[in-house]
Amino acid sequence: MYNPRNANTSDRMTAPIIVDTAEAEVLRALRLRGRISRTEISNITGWSKAKTSQEIRGLVDKGYLVDVGEGASQGGRKPRLLRLNNGLGYVIGIDIGATSLELALADVGGRILQRRYETTDVRLKPEIVLGRCRELIGEMLDAQGSRPGQMLGIGVGVPGPVDFARGVLVAPPLMPDWQDFPIRDFFKEFFPSVYVVVDNDVNIMALGEQRTGDGANVDHFIFVKIGTGIGAGIISNGKIHRGSDGCAGDIGHICVDKDGPICRCGNSGCLEAMAAGPAIVEKAIQAAQNGSSPLLSQMREANGGILRPEDVNAACREADQAALEIIRSSGQMVGDVLATLVNFFNPSHIFIGGGIANFGNHLLVSIRQAVLRRSLPLATTRLSINFSRAGADTGITGAVALASEYLFMVEDGLHYSF
Ligand SMILES: [Zn+2]
Repeated sequence: MYNPRNANTSDRMTAPIIVDTAEAEVLRALRLRGRISRTEISNITGWSKAKTSQEIRGLVDKGYLVDVGEGASQGGRKPRLLRLNNGLGYVIGIDIGATSLELALADVGGRILQRRYETTDVRLKPEIVLGRCRELIGEMLDAQGSRPGQMLGIGVGVPGPVDFARGVLVAPPLMPDWQDFPIRDFFKEFFPSVYVVVDNDVNIMALGEQRTGDGANVDHFIFVKIGTGIGAGIISNGKIHRGSDGCAGDIGHICVDKDGPICRCGNSGCLEAMAAGPAIVEKAIQAAQNGSSPLLSQMREANGGILRPEDVNAACREADQAALEIIRSSGQMVGDVLATLVNFFNPSHIFIGGGIANFGNHLLVSIRQAVLRRSLPLATTRLSINFSRAGADTGITGAVALASEYLFMVEDGLHYSF
């Protein structure tokens, strides 16, 4: 049975449970299905019945897997199904947004048992924001009637570029005080036996889409977040593709116009500076001021001089031409960049999420048109581009998935997700 005292507590992002490569294959097969029969494991791994039974018996004896009874018959005897043993403990997911904190306590299979949500300001010092997370973790453990020792791992999503191997933010524009802050060490000081995995907010949304959304069973997809910023999470061969330093998918800083406005990264004409929420608001203010949209002008007056992206969306619903043009132009710029990515990466699906994704069909149609116009026919024949239907839960389910991905590790240090 798993013993937290055997946990590897070195500074690396090590998982507490070390398995051999054969055991990892079973766990990986399990990850694809959640619940799985011996025959399915045998089909996926290519092992004989005897070898499959032997490996499973080992994992059940160690307390990692449990028999959960009979599944539906496929014509013959009803298969006996296996899943991860929820008695192993709990994982924690933390989704830190620019203005909100969301935490969940889940079993190792990803089922959320407790959750907390509150507003925050990520520009505060990391000790303050993470300190609050620590208190909320304590609250959830109490509410669940469990001890800190039953907590296995923490997955943290943050809104900035993450050096994944080190688990730190690097030059985060939104949260400069977090530069190089040791997020893992902060939690390990209070919960010494846990492992902590830190990733950027869009990668966890991609994981959430894969676990609970339409991205389940899709091997190659891109999750695009359009909000205050723009970013993408890439699932390649069923796994997150982070690149060599962790910043793969940072598409917000691809240049779309060399003469464009200065971006918060310091360069000019980045996609994010041209097409994300603040750019939409900026253009809406111009339309309100120069008389091209009396409606936006009225809204601005009614809001005390302020316009928000939601106002532009509301104006689109009223068929305001200036607002429609602003949204179409954003969609086209996002679509042009995605067309390049489609040619390069050949995904079967693109899911669009984030605050601006609620903007309905005008945005989606413009994105689709731009992608179809500029991508290779072979790459778009079966390409699906849609809003993510997983909704606001994508981030937190992804943070939980991030934590459970690293529960097991093979001895050579290569991790296997399950
Ligand atoms: Zn930029």
